[in-house]
Amino acid sequence: MIEMVNVSKVYKNGVTAVNKLSVKIEQGEFVYIVGPSGAGKSTFIKMLYREEKASEGSIKIGKFDLMKIKEREVPMLRRYVGVVFQDFKLLPKLTVYENIAYAMEVVEKTPKQIEKRVFEVLDLVKLKHKARMFPTELSGGEQQRIAIARAIVNMPGILIADEPTGNLDPDTSLEIMDILDEINSQGTTILMATHNSQIVNDIKHRVLAVENGRIVRDQQEGEYGYEI
Ligand code: ADP
Ligand code: ADP
Repeated sequence: MIEMVNVSKVYKNGVTAVNKLSVKIEQGEFVYIVGPSGAGKSTFIKMLYREEKASEGSIKIGKFDLMKIKEREVPMLRRYVGVVFQDFKLLPKLTVYENIAYAMEVVEKTPKQIEKRVFEVLDLVKLKHKARMFPTELSGGEQQRIAIARAIVNMPGILIADEPTGNLDPDTSLEIMDILDEINSQGTTILMATHNSQIVNDIKHRVLAVENGRIVRDQQEGEYGYEI
């Protein structure tokens, strides 16, 4: 469960990116976050994995109270909240297998546990046969699938996707959505910030529209709702 109450974020330069925002998201929901550029979507998302600290308000994520969490507990939060980005952020010098395994090595799993789980997530994204390749040898869609595999390898309760289809063509974007829906059907909460109106309108989920740092629309099975 994610619960934000009156959360604000004021950056050092005085910009209020998020303004007294409140929202509740239950475990297992799939939520799109839409809105114009500069609306505060990224800031909203970054506060959930503590890339940015809220200036005021309360944020609770599962058992974590982000206003009380200690610095040494942040890595545990980041294990509970997996993240994927528009530009994938894979490590170019590591193979596909190593990129995913690395996320488990830092949490001190045994090599046997790591190998089993890495192939499990590679199977889910249908890229087992590319385990030995390097990211640059893969298409954009394949790189995003690897990034998703890496994000879920430690079984997070929540997966956050910031414009995951932003660099992909329509067919490849649909492949990514199939994978996200599959992960969601296994119980993982998904929050996806997107400008992809076609996906939002075709694959229906809850829609949160953010403008000027506030939620201006919260709709089950919602529409994208903006001109393209
Ligand atoms: P969106 O993701 O909807 O485009 P952002 O959260 O990136 O919106 O930005 C919201 C507002 O906060 C914008 O006015 C943006 O310029 C500002 N902003 C974002 N990041 C920073 C930062 N690190 N420092 C100062 N202002 C920022
Ligand atoms: P499958 O069950 O589909 O045959 P494999 O377990 O053989 O899949 O692995 C798929 C690919 O990953 C093969 O090229 C294999 O050599 C490679 N691979 C297997 N284990 C590792 C590992 N620990 N590190 C890197 N690559 C591996």
